[in-house]
Amino acid sequence: MNYVKIAADQCKGCRVCISTCPRHCLVVGSQFNSLGYQNTVFVGEDRCTACGLCFYVCPEPGAITVFRDESPEKESGTKGESES
Ligand code: SF4
Ligand code: SF4
Repeated sequence: MNYVKIAADQCKGCRVCISTCPRHCLVVGSQFNSLGYQNTVFVGEDRCTACGLCFYVCPEPGAITVFRDESPEKESGTKGESES
């Protein structure tokens, strides 16, 4: 499956990714991160296409990582945005 990991403590809560995602996979979370922002949360496990748009529009380089055809359990934690 495709999924997106949000590094909660790097998200500034600008919501650009939320308004950009064509599949409505991203929402404002209910928690506040260490910077005091309501960080974005990924809810699109059933519909994310791994298009990468959220990654490209995010102004915070480390906040979003897109995984294509992977399961969260296998995540290495070091992989970058997978656009291959
Ligand atoms: S990779 Fe594409 S479909 Fe998936 S959350 Fe980001 S913008 Fe939405
Ligand atoms: S675009 Fe980046 S900084 Fe802005 S809400 Fe989304 S993840 Fe957070």
